[in-house]
Amino acid sequence: MDKYEVLKQYFGYDEFRDGQNVLIDSILEGRDTLGIMPTGAGKSLCYQIPALLMGGITIVVSPLISLMKDQVEALNQAGVHAAYLNSSLTVNQYYTALRYAKEGRYPIIYVAPERLDTGEFLDFAMHTDISMVAVDEAHCVSQWGQDFRPSYLKIVTFIEKLPKRPVVSAFTATATAEVRADIADILRLREPLVTTTGFDRPNLYFAVQSPKDKFAALLNYVERHKGESGIIYCLTRKYVEDVCARLQAEGFSVTRYHAGLGDGERKSNQEDFIYDRADIMVATNAFGMGIDKSNVRYVVHYNMPKNMESYYQEAGRAGRDGEASECILLYGGQDVVTNQLFIDNNRENDELDEFTAEVVKERDRERLRKMTFYCFTNECLRDYILRYFGEYGENYCGNCSNCLSQFETVDVTESAAAVVNCVSACRQRYGINVILDTVHGANTAKIRQYRMDENPQYGVLAKVPLYRLRQIINHLLLKEYLMLTTDGYSIVKLTEKSRQITCGEEQITMKMPKEAEKETKKHKETKGKKKKTAGLSAADEPMFEKLRELRMEIAREEKVPPYLVFSDKTLVHMCVEKPADRAGMLSVSGVGEYKYEKYGERFLEEIQKLC
Ligand code: ADP
Ligand code: MG
Repeated sequence: MDKYEVLKQYFGYDEFRDGQNVLIDSILEGRDTLGIMPTGAGKSLCYQIPALLMGGITIVVSPLISLMKDQVEALNQAGVHAAYLNSSLTVNQYYTALRYAKEGRYPIIYVAPERLDTGEFLDFAMHTDISMVAVDEAHCVSQWGQDFRPSYLKIVTFIEKLPKRPVVSAFTATATAEVRADIADILRLREPLVTTTGFDRPNLYFAVQSPKDKFAALLNYVERHKGESGIIYCLTRKYVEDVCARLQAEGFSVTRYHAGLGDGERKSNQEDFIYDRADIMVATNAFGMGIDKSNVRYVVHYNMPKNMESYYQEAGRAGRDGEASECILLYGGQDVVTNQLFIDNNRENDELDEFTAEVVKERDRERLRKMTFYCFTNECLRDYILRYFGEYGENYCGNCSNCLSQFETVDVTESAAAVVNCVSACRQRYGINVILDTVHGANTAKIRQYRMDENPQYGVLAKVPLYRLRQIINHLLLKEYLMLTTDGYSIVKLTEKSRQITCGEEQITMKMPKEAEKETKKHKETKGKKKKTAGLSAADEPMFEKLRELRMEIAREEKVPPYLVFSDKTLVHMCVEKPADRAGMLSVSGVGEYKYEKYGERFLEEIQKLC
């Protein structure tokens, strides 16, 4: 068999996606390989397919039990023998799995990093032909990453103990240069082939909203997406409890996840979501890594997360199946404050020396600032994300709330000058709110206490609404006409560019949303939603529903998540193609031979009934 036959027979796909070919070929040539691809791009196939072609055993190191379980179930569904070795197995199960592995029954086994230096596992590894060690979520080896796991450092020692060095491959979705370099260094990859595929996820629609009433906005959104699977991320446990309870009271099928719940409850809530028993998961960032659920149609951030890395990773859990999905961020000023508190009180840094801890904090504040800018930019959101990860996007994607909004270019030179002059006149001593209140002419105790009512700019912009002023100052910060100190106090300071404004050398223009834009935007969002079932005509909707029901029935019988039976995308294809026989069914993307043998007939029957 060659790689195309494996792809078709086991996974039911006709084509490789961007990056997969190169990575698979490199591994098959026996070269160390590092693949950097965004969430949902299809990294697993990059090591699973070579594993099936190479002979010997591939050991996949993966950080989480749920992740291993999901992948092994998916492989078993596809007709590949695979197993995992981790602490969720009883001693007996563990030894049985190890014995089968020794007998060569599994081409692929998943192992928790903690197991790598245990006696029985080493004993097994020393006497087995290990063709590859694949490190999934490889950023876990890096302290610069967000999910550093000390046990990942055991991987190198393990590899070095093996009698014959296997091919080593590593995969991650984390794109920053530090982390990439760390992975190659720490894992001691030998002249690896490194491939980074585009970070763009064209099927995801991005939007930022700053609603006065977040819950009302959320409610409106989930109403319009009833029956779809979605995740709502909140910054704190309290928000999770609150939002979940209120949605429940509104009659939604919803569950929750955060670190304050007991193990048992977390697990069962997670399963309710994965098995489609609950449509909506409300969670903190504790939820998600290891959730490969492919049919998540939207991810709403109820709060702005701490940085773009987290945002893109969490938002990226939408639409893994490639179908159109939405990523909505509900911004509120309080989110910045909460995140700042998290940074200042981050106990993970306790073990660091004072200097390093300060460097880390500084870096975190900078990341938070970039995240905040994302919420304020009027430029293409996708472009902003891609630039953040070092790619150059187009200035217009046509599939984000900014590209779909009507903007007008407004000259804000005069307001900008007043703001900069105000900062200068108070000798750069105050934060954003004091500055804005001053130019706006607020009569508050604080303003009087700081004697800002005596500032020459006091009240000169009284006619400009505060939200506009906020947009303007954010624009000035974004374009570095002003800056914020990062020692925790966030004082507005002048920069080298400030003078260009006060001297009247520079005209400052800004893209502002047109006031009458709201309706059209809403309209476009619903239109965006329709794209979800792209290629599915209204006439085919009932068939899609029927097939989903059948899928649920099978999932219940087999005790696997519905999306492991067939993905939404595969069901859509079936509705479009309406296959009448085995050959027709096998031409549907996502239907491999093994799955056809198991479920093909039942789906064919259902389709014929409806035709
Ligand atoms: P990642 O680990 O990169 O986040 P996964 O390996 O979990 O992504 O793959 C995401 C989804 O994409 C899975 O449902 C997988 O079956 C699907 N997929 C992977 N490769 C292909 C392909 N070549 N064609 C179609 N679907 C694919
Ligand atoms: Mg993965």
